Amino acid sequence: MTNVSLRGLSKSFGHFSVVKAFDLEIAAGEFVVFVGPSGCGKTTTLRMIAGLELPTGGEIFIGSRDVTDLDPRDRRIAMVFQSYALYPHMTIRENLGFALKLAGVPKEEIARKVEAVADTLGLQQYLQAKPRTLSGGQRQRVALGRAIIREPDVFLFDEPLSNLDAKLRSVMRNEIIRLHKSLKSTMIYVTHDQVEAMTMGDRIVVMHGGVAQQIGTPLEVYDEPANLFVATFIGSPSMNILEGEVENGKFQCQGISIDSPVPVSGKAFLGIRPEHLRIVPHDTPGAIRGTLGVVEHLGAETIIELLTDGPVITARIPRADGLSGGAELYVAANHIHLFDKDGNRIETP
Ligand code: ADP
Ligand code: MG
Repeated sequence: MTNVSLRGLSKSFGHFSVVKAFDLEIAAGEFVVFVGPSGCGKTTTLRMIAGLELPTGGEIFIGSRDVTDLDPRDRRIAMVFQSYALYPHMTIRENLGFALKLAGVPKEEIARKVEAVADTLGLQQYLQAKPRTLSGGQRQRVALGRAIIREPDVFLFDEPLSNLDAKLRSVMRNEIIRLHKSLKSTMIYVTHDQVEAMTMGDRIVVMHGGVAQQIGTPLEVYDEPANLFVATFIGSPSMNILEGEVENGKFQCQGISIDSPVPVSGKAFLGIRPEHLRIVPHDTPGAIRGTLGVVEHLGAETIIELLTDGPVITARIPRADGLSGGAELYVAANHIHLFDKDGNRIETP
């Protein structure tokens, strides 16, 4: 188990700055997820940790070693990509053992380790097969196996499940979590998928525009998003954001009036997660009036769209049969978030 430390890590391509002064302490054995939209700098950060990309500024420590200028081979890391990058002409056994063979590990030891890894990942019956005869999920298991067999200090994953269908993705997600629990290795996992981030990470780093917007446990980030970007990126459907003014203890926005939990005044943004809204009687304090737009039945839950005089509000409510479009109804929030005029969180009691 090894800790990883990123200190003022930055990267520019020409004048284009894609990772900006990134500071992060990853504890030994921790599972950290970098999550953010495409282009926010996740892969570049991971590639710098791997040594495949040289930083423009800052330092990378793995354990007590400053690896900033070290060759990738000397960093004791293993990386798993979205494309499995298996050698097509080799059997699974040869694919798994290849790195050890290159490193001059004795044959018997390679054979023993290949068996052990194949056992862990349920690949025993495929050892003699070629990659093309395997399914996507099995190939990704082999790619995982090739990382595990090297017994790296740190595992790096770059969107490893993006090529798999939804069902297999959730199976592999659990498999990687189990693997982390049994190996107890430090793992850094990159994804654009907030569900993967929320379910897999001990901590998550929400990235946007090359900047770490927030670092915290999944629930910290969900409960107390640092700014509007994090608030709308984490959670599904996205948090409703109302732009308005706080005056005399009330947040006002185009006919909507909700008690402000903090005594601020002036321009502000109010955030309400769809799952924190309920249909209520019209005389409920803070009720938002609207007419029903699109209704989506998910089975156990129903997602409704409420057309107010101002913004469209999305609510995720327990299953509601028999709702018809155009009906007038009221919703109220049991939990709200407040952001200042710059979109930064205002702490609420
Ligand atoms: P992510 O993995 O979050 O989608 P990347 O780290 O791949 O983002 O890319 C971040 C930004 O850096 C993108 O705008 C991308 O186009 C740019 N970029 C990545 N690699 C290079 C490169 N080798 N040369 C120039 N620009 C690059
Ligand atoms: Mg990427």
